[in-house]
Amino acid sequence: MTIKDLVTQYESISSFLNDRWPLKNHEQRTFARTMKIMEELGELSDEILTSMNLQRNTKIEKFSRENVEDEFADVLGSLILLGIELDIDVEQVMQKKIDFTRKRFDMDLKE
Ligand SMILES: [Mg+2]
Repeated sequence: MTIKDLVTQYESISSFLNDRWPLKNHEQRTFARTMKIMEELGELSDEILTSMNLQRNTKIEKFSRENVEDEFADVLGSLILLGIELDIDVEQVMQKKIDFTRKRFDMDLKE
């Protein structure tokens, strides 16, 4: 799956969500998408803490790697949904960031 494929699939999910739970305007959708990222990041953090045995035993007993992966996917998916709402070209901004990082650490010369 490419980033383009990922965004295309989430554009369809975004349309579904906007039809199913309509919000008044772009500002409300942006707020809701941002809060959803925070919610999902909290859930991922919970799973990470559990994986490190830093949660209560009842959570540790239920730990599975699949839960970590599910919550990671939720964070990325919710971030993509915000990107769609903000009309961000995810592929382009990520390539720009990768180029910046490679240049910053002089990584281009080592390949
Ligand atoms: Mg979740």
